[in-house]
Amino acid sequence: MKVYFLGTGTSQGIPIIGVDHPVCKSTDAKDKRLRVSIWITWGEHSYVIDCGPDFRQQMLSCGCTHLDAILFTHEHADHTAGLDDIRPFNFRQGEIPVYAHQRVIDNLKRRFDYVFETVNKYPGAPSVKTIEVINDQPFAVGDKTAIPVNVMHGDLQVFGYRIDDFAYLTDVKTVHETEVEKLKNLKVLVVNALRVEPHDTHFNLQEALDFINLVKPEKAYLTHISHVLGFHEEVQKQLPKNVFLAYDNLEITI
Ligand SMILES: [Zn+2]
Repeated sequence: MKVYFLGTGTSQGIPIIGVDHPVCKSTDAKDKRLRVSIWITWGEHSYVIDCGPDFRQQMLSCGCTHLDAILFTHEHADHTAGLDDIRPFNFRQGEIPVYAHQRVIDNLKRRFDYVFETVNKYPGAPSVKTIEVINDQPFAVGDKTAIPVNVMHGDLQVFGYRIDDFAYLTDVKTVHETEVEKLKNLKVLVVNALRVEPHDTHFNLQEALDFINLVKPEKAYLTHISHVLGFHEEVQKQLPKNVFLAYDNLEITI
């Protein structure tokens, strides 16, 4: 299984429009972060987790030509705003399955009403088939199983996903111990780490490292990163030897 980091930045991306911060001015490609998303492939199978505003650019960068489904974590715009850009996949494949919590499906129906139109739908509009994700109900992704992991982003419920020995959790602030049980014996855990300072709805760096210590994956990658966390090169040097800052276009094999 291959995991390609399509984007590793927090909601505004890095650089931020109009911001003079040294990390926003960095010439290191690893300091340029699109909105957070991953592409998971194995054999003929191809899935993305989330579909943010940079989706089109990300699909072009990674060379994805076929998509089996989109798995959504939650409804925030940095994770969903690219839904209109699935059309090239629709034109080749037909409707794209979308897995999400029922609350997220309802939200998408409001924000992308034209996608869900049943009368006189514009023929070029995106086309999706929604499938509700329910906690403690694993579902098939190709010949593998996705296990939903129920976590909290402040007061908002968010799904992470485990597939085989890989798990992806973003926009997490708290995780109930029953959900930690679903994350035992991982080869790779991806988890969000926004910045050094605490934040109301995201792990900061120390909380992410404490969570990694609790879960004990073989390796962990940090994502959903703010410019104020610092330069990629400098932050990476301070991390434990099995913890890595993810960066855009990084591909790992599990
Ligand atoms: Zn986010």
